[in-house]
Amino acid sequence: NTFAEIDLWDLLNQNIRRCKYVRPTPIQRHAIPIALAGRDLMACAQTGSGKTAAFCFPIISGIMREQYVQRPRVARTVYPLALILSPTRELSCQIHDEAKKFSYQTGVKVVVAYGGAPINQQLRELERGVDILVATPGRLVDLLERARLSLQMIRYLALDEADRMLDMGFEPQIRKIVEQMDMPNRGVRQTMLFSATFPREIQRLASDFLSNYIFLAV
Ligand code: AMP
Repeated sequence: NTFAEIDLWDLLNQNIRRCKYVRPTPIQRHAIPIALAGRDLMACAQTGSGKTAAFCFPIISGIMREQYVQRPRVARTVYPLALILSPTRELSCQIHDEAKKFSYQTGVKVVVAYGGAPINQQLRELERGVDILVATPGRLVDLLERARLSLQMIRYLALDEADRMLDMGFEPQIRKIVEQMDMPNRGVRQTMLFSATFPREIQRLASDFLSNYIFLAV
């Protein structure tokens, strides 16, 4: 019933303590071990449930294991290993802030990109390298068209507040983004879908993007 009982890296555990998290919330207690075991996950979670940490910890943990994987050497192209999609600028910034705290001193680099702000600064930031990219779907589609950014190496995909993203009309962008994650990666990619509600459209997303997933409602 403590984070120390979950098999996370010491450095990550130190950062968790620094954030003053003592006990995992119910979603964290159930989702983190499932995700650490490599399973795809569809989780019912509301704002305030601690869902951000529930998907960030396994992603950071996995990247700490994998950050030295050979990424293709294509001139100036960046290959993030994880992508977190969220519906709004506010939520993306919150996720980015938390993910940065959790990955303090781990060498895992987190970058955020959202719409409604000048794209050039985000392009420059991205081109300096990124392990975990937090983005809103519309801005990410723009970036993919302009930046030397490739999703071929994405190992972890988290969709946060998926129902809200669909309500906002982001389904075509989300599908376009996931299509750019390469075929050879399909077996390797781990996908986590978080949503407050489970209408038919979300179930369809889950069956299209997840494989052999575990459903979690806390
Ligand atoms: P979230 O649902 O991810 O937006 O998290 C809601 C708030 O709870 C955020 O301010 C988190 O920093 C905080 N939080 C998340 N998990 C824990 C935990 N295990 N212990 C204490 N606070 C937490």
